[in-house]
Amino acid sequence: MTALHPFDGERLPVAILGATGMVGQTFIRLLADHPWFRVTTVAASERSAGKTFGDATRWLDGEMPAAVRDLIVQPCDPGVITESVVFSALDSGPAHQLEPAFARRGAIVLSNARSYRMAPDVPLLIPEINASHVAMIDSQRELRGWNGALVTNANCATIVLALALAPLHAAFGARRLFVATMQAVSGAGYPGVSALDILGNVIPYISDEEPKLESEAQKILGVLAGGAVQAAPFIISAHTNRVPVEHGHTVCVSVEFAAPVTPEAATEVLRNWRGDPASHGLPSSPAVPLVVHTALDRPQPRRDVQRDGGMSVHVGRVRPDPQFHLRLVAMGHNVIRGAAGASIQNAELLAARGILRPA
Ligand code: NAP
Repeated sequence: MTALHPFDGERLPVAILGATGMVGQTFIRLLADHPWFRVTTVAASERSAGKTFGDATRWLDGEMPAAVRDLIVQPCDPGVITESVVFSALDSGPAHQLEPAFARRGAIVLSNARSYRMAPDVPLLIPEINASHVAMIDSQRELRGWNGALVTNANCATIVLALALAPLHAAFGARRLFVATMQAVSGAGYPGVSALDILGNVIPYISDEEPKLESEAQKILGVLAGGAVQAAPFIISAHTNRVPVEHGHTVCVSVEFAAPVTPEAATEVLRNWRGDPASHGLPSSPAVPLVVHTALDRPQPRRDVQRDGGMSVHVGRVRPDPQFHLRLVAMGHNVIRGAAGASIQNAELLAARGILRPA
C-alpha cells in the first residue's frame, strides 16, 4: 500500500545540485513523474550556470524530460536557490562547503557525496535498514544551530552490500567480511573512465573506494543510542575493481558470523526480509527489497539490474565458505539504488515523517 500523500496532492518543489552529471540526470529522470516532488531548479558548476539545461547537459539516457529542457542552470548558491528540499549530486569537493551552506539556510539536503556520511550527527540512511536514524536530525540541528538538515546516502557499492547483509546480521551477527567488487563504469560519473582504459579490461583500483566500503556499513547497521550511532561490530576487508559494465555493481561477499550458518537458513532469512515497516509504501520502495536468485549464474547486471525500477538488490550463489561461514553474490543499480533513487527514497521517508515541508 502506498503511503498517504504528505502534501495534500501538491508536488513539493525541489532543487538539484550537480544536475548536469550522471547522478543529477538520474534524479531528473526519476523525479519527472514523481507523485510527491517536482524539479523546479537545476544547478551545476560555473561552467554550466546561465545556460539552458538542454544546452548545458549531454543527456545520457533516452529523452530529456521537456519540463527541464528550458530551465536556466543556476549556480549552486544558497542565496539564489530557495527550495526547501535540495538533492545534491555534487562531488565531495564542492559538496564539503555547499551542502552545509544550504542546510544553514534552512534546506533539507539529501546528499550523495562522501563528505559528511561518517559525521557523528549526520544520518547515513537506508529506509529498509535504519529509518530510526532520522532522529539524528534533532541532535544535528541542536549541535550545528541550523533549521535545515543534512541527510546522506552511502557509497553505491556499500548500499548493495548493506542491504544484502542487513537481514543476515540481524539474524546471525556478522563478525568478519571479505568483499570484492566489480563496479560499473557509470559509477565513475560522466565522462568518467576513458573507453581505452576500460574496454576489454579490469582496473583493480577505484580512488578512495575501499575505505568507504570498509566503514560505512557499520554505521548503517549500527544502533542509535543517546543520539549517537554505535557502529555494528564487524570488520570488512574490501577489494574494489572497475569493470566494463554500464550499470550495476556486483559484490562478492564472504562472511563469518558469531556461529556457523547454513546456506539454507541464510536463504530463508534473505527471502523473508521486507525491511523496516517505515520503508513500506514509500513511492520508491520496492515491494521486495532483496530478490533471491537460485540459478547458479545469477545475479547478472545485464539481466537483473533494471528490475523494480533499479531499486531492488539481487542476491545469489548463497553457499558455504571454507574459511568463513557463508559466501554470496549481491548486485544492484549503482546510479539508482546506489545514488539518486536512494536519496529520493530518503526524502520520501522524511516527507512521510512530516520533516519535509514547503518553503
Ligand atoms: P559527475 O557525472 O561527474 O557530475 C558532477 C556534477 O557536479 C556535474 O553536474 C557538475 O557540473 C557538478 N560540479 C562539478 N564541480 C562543481 C562545482 N565546483 N560547483 C558546482 N557543481 C559542480 O558525477 P556523478 O557520478 O554524477 O557523481 C555525483 C556525486 O554522487 C559524487 O559525489 C559521487 O561520488 C556520488 N555518487 C555517484 C554514484 C554513481 O554511480 N555515479 C553513486 C553514488 C554516489 P558541470 O556539468 O557544470 O561540470
